[in-house]
Amino acid sequence: MRLVLIGPPGAGKGTQAAILSQTLGVPHISTGDLFREHVTRRTPLGRDAQRYLDTGELVPDHVTGGMVRERLTQPDTRHGFLLDGFPRTVPQARQLAAILDAAECELDAVLEFTAPEEVVVTRLLERGRPDDTEDVIRHRQRVYERQTTPLLDHYSDILLSVQAVGPVDEIAQRALKGLARPI
Ligand code: ADP
Repeated sequence: MRLVLIGPPGAGKGTQAAILSQTLGVPHISTGDLFREHVTRRTPLGRDAQRYLDTGELVPDHVTGGMVRERLTQPDTRHGFLLDGFPRTVPQARQLAAILDAAECELDAVLEFTAPEEVVVTRLLERGRPDDTEDVIRHRQRVYERQTTPLLDHYSDILLSVQAVGPVDEIAQRALKGLARPI
């Protein structure tokens, strides 16, 4: 199964991605995690990405798209994957479409996790990652609204919205139930 997860920072995409990836048996690919690995390993890509991560801006599309293209050529993605954090812009969705066209496959569904801003901001403040200061968190929410929510229209044909407030397992069950029904 080929899935994309969308949701504001703090909606719990990463947590749900880990559960869904286990249940569905497909690799979880998080662009945020890939960037943080590059930063830790001090690769050239990590050095380019660092200042965007620190401020909550999006890393430029050509950098992100190249990194994802590379990841999707790994053999473990042949039978499916779960993309967490990509695409985040309409141009990135076009990049993904080109990658999938070249591999003659397509997305099965786009899962949107929804939660009110005050809930997600509180969760992120509790998480306390170095880029989780209140200003940066609020900025990432604005970036999400401006740059990522247009994807909801872009993917309206295969979009499945899941309310992401409540116990983690219940949210995962809602997502899995939704996926089991034809979209
Ligand atoms: P969150 O969901 O809390 O924003 P992520 O781990 O998904 O956290 O992303 C952290 C940072 O990594 C983002 O603020 C952004 O700088 C960068 N990033 C992740 N995915 C993308 C992407 N698809 N395009 C550009 N930048 C990205």
